[in-house]
Amino acid sequence: MQFRRRDLLAGGAGLLALQALELRASTPADGGSELWPRTAQVPGGIARLSLGPAPERPLAFADQIPVLVLGDAIEWTALVGIPLAATPGERSIDLRGAKGAGARRLSYQVAAKKYSEQRLKVPPRTVDLSAEDEARYQRERTHLAGVMATFSETVPHASMQMCVPSPGRRSSSFGLRRVFNGQARNPHSGMDIAAATGTPVVAPLAAKVIDTGDYFFNGNTVWLDHGAGLLSMYCHLSAIDVRVGDVLRAGEQLGEVGATGRVTGPHLHWSVSLNRAMVDPALFITG
Ligand code: ZN
Repeated sequence: MQFRRRDLLAGGAGLLALQALELRASTPADGGSELWPRTAQVPGGIARLSLGPAPERPLAFADQIPVLVLGDAIEWTALVGIPLAATPGERSIDLRGAKGAGARRLSYQVAAKKYSEQRLKVPPRTVDLSAEDEARYQRERTHLAGVMATFSETVPHASMQMCVPSPGRRSSSFGLRRVFNGQARNPHSGMDIAAATGTPVVAPLAAKVIDTGDYFFNGNTVWLDHGAGLLSMYCHLSAIDVRVGDVLRAGEQLGEVGATGRVTGPHLHWSVSLNRAMVDPALFITG
């Protein structure tokens, strides 16, 4: 997806509100607790980096991927998703002034986080895909990489606090490393919410629907774009109630919990992606 400067300059209305929120949050009375998402400079977390003042919104990139920049001429802030696969230590973003001037690099530290590991022995046929399924999975992976690269012009609403997309018991299995029959799989890159088939799933934040489909592992899936590289994904749905291009308000239903795709029982798998890094959805919700 092509990245255009004017894309970043839209969305002014929310920025004034954000400024107000930041001013309020910086008062000692509430200790800054109103800033969302919460940050955690660990793999799978989010860094909030102050970029200082500039007359126009700076462009920021993490490994050449455009990064969400909020604020106004008085203070710009970058919100950077840190990949689960990131090595702890120093990381950086690259900044350019809106007119291409003032290129600089801003470094920040990523601390180690030990996610738990699950070792499972399962019948080989449940992990080894047939040639046909493997070909399907590879096609879907390419398609989903394109979806994940979406970077739209709108900056997310001032507060990025999300509501929980579905009622139910929430797992804390984000980042869990799974080893099937001695082979390491990708870590679990979302939150699972246990709920009965048919339980409503709602948009946790205003969004545009950018993809729907029935995928091999993820089953019936909806992808939402909240703006500027903040995306979210809902998997294993029994019903999809939206179409690509639909614009949803926070709390509007997008589908129903189910057990489609490669799962053992009904639940919602919810992922949040920021600059193409899957980050912990728990950072966006209360409790
Ligand atoms: Zn899951």
